[in-house]
Amino acid sequence: MKLYEKYPIHLSNSLSGEKEKFETIVPGFVGMYVCGPTVYNYVHLGNVRTFLTFDILSRYFRFLGYKVRYVRNITDVGHLEGDVDEGEDKIGKKAQLEQLEPMEIVKRYTEDFHTVTRQFNILPPSIEPSATGHIVEQINITKKLIDLGLAYEVNGSVYFDVKKYNQSHHYGILSGRNIEDLMESGRDLDSQDEKREKIDFALWKKASPQHIMRWPSPWGEGFPGWHIECTVMSTKYLGETFDLHGGGMDLKFPHHECEIAQATGANGKSPVKYWIHSNMLTVNGQKMSKSSGNSFLPSELFSGSHALLQKGYSPMTVRFFMLQSHYSSTLDFSNEALIAAEKGYKKLSNALTLVKALSHSGNSTINTEAEKNLSDLIDQCYQTMSDDFNTAKTLAVLFEMASQINTWVSQKELLNEVNAEGFKKFKATYISFMEEALGLKEEKSVNNNLLDGTINVLIELRKKVRMDKNFALSDKIRDDLKGIGIQLKDGKDGEMSYEIEQ
Ligand code: AMP
Ligand code: ZN
Repeated sequence: MKLYEKYPIHLSNSLSGEKEKFETIVPGFVGMYVCGPTVYNYVHLGNVRTFLTFDILSRYFRFLGYKVRYVRNITDVGHLEGDVDEGEDKIGKKAQLEQLEPMEIVKRYTEDFHTVTRQFNILPPSIEPSATGHIVEQINITKKLIDLGLAYEVNGSVYFDVKKYNQSHHYGILSGRNIEDLMESGRDLDSQDEKREKIDFALWKKASPQHIMRWPSPWGEGFPGWHIECTVMSTKYLGETFDLHGGGMDLKFPHHECEIAQATGANGKSPVKYWIHSNMLTVNGQKMSKSSGNSFLPSELFSGSHALLQKGYSPMTVRFFMLQSHYSSTLDFSNEALIAAEKGYKKLSNALTLVKALSHSGNSTINTEAEKNLSDLIDQCYQTMSDDFNTAKTLAVLFEMASQINTWVSQKELLNEVNAEGFKKFKATYISFMEEALGLKEEKSVNNNLLDGTINVLIELRKKVRMDKNFALSDKIRDDLKGIGIQLKDGKDGEMSYEIEQ
């Protein structure tokens, strides 16, 4: 029996609004798609929370024995300021501001995103497609929607006809809205002259002469709308209907609602079985966002340089902090909460180090109650995670397990009350839930004096090598150190220093 059969997952499906048993379309396989970042700026901790949520989902699916194809895109075109059909492309605007090519912006912030995800031990997806790599597919589906009478062209732009779609489907099915209310409340914007109704949304936009990111299309030069990229990339790699689609709660409407309409319109079936929305990271109750000016960058968090922080915190402390709440609740970010998380995480991490070194003598005088306690704790780890990925409850179970580990360390004889097999299973469960399912690594504190001394030896050696004009070796020392996250810096006075990349 597979673990996913023994501990079936139940998850909150935003589409039905109910907690449902998770049953995949193809037994044993999970196809999941998550909206990736718009790479026009550094990722902040709010973004990290959403990507962490889906890291937990994909990790736990694999943990239970599913084969997972996880697609998470990179949005490198079409996401306009204010999330609407007018305004500048976020990436194009930044490129103009910095006098760079849009693809230089995309490269810089995609790399930042990858660095940050690695720091937080967020695993890479199986496929990471980009919107600009799928222009042809976006044009094709737009053509198809025009042919089906669900989209129309005006002045080189193409819009989705929401009213027409709603005649045979329900636009608003995901966000619980109805088209009449939406038509009343829609925003009045420039392109309304072009649109038949203000709730219609762009599949393709004509590029104005000053717009940098542009491609040829049957409707003239332009660029794709934001929603169509996700429809194209999800269905291309996962099929017309796939298991799970995720993203932050703020994407539910209009982005995900439009995705459903586009895919259902084009393929005649609803694209996604389970929709999962992760809730927002807030600061003093307000959503963390770049535009509100209340965002924290991971680097400010590690160094403690942000005005609201008393000191720096490690990536695993923050990971632990985020896992302490259920993904569907908002989570408020504060210095106090991080101090508490640091303590909590240390306790679990210490127990991890201790249990790895702990072994059973093989002799036991069994105490059935102690044995049952162990197997109950093991069971609870799975039960809590399978209950809608309740990491908060799983951590509570791991705390109980950590206390048990500490007791064994201080009173070794108590280990003989359980049999060797039971202990082995308990140990393996603690380690694997910490490291694999929750992605909480041990953070060993570095002995700073020793590290400082060692790098200074290397710096001196490199000086000598340079004097001997052996530049190849000097470069190798610098590059190898960089490879392990230590960057050498040339000072003005010829002195070298170093910096550890977090
Ligand atoms: P963006 O790069 O703006 O497209 O956002 C990337 C992802 O981060 C989306 O899934 C957003 O829903 C999510 N996100 C943005 N702000 C927050 C926040 N404060 N808390 C949680 N997730 C967020
Ligand atoms: Zn998306």
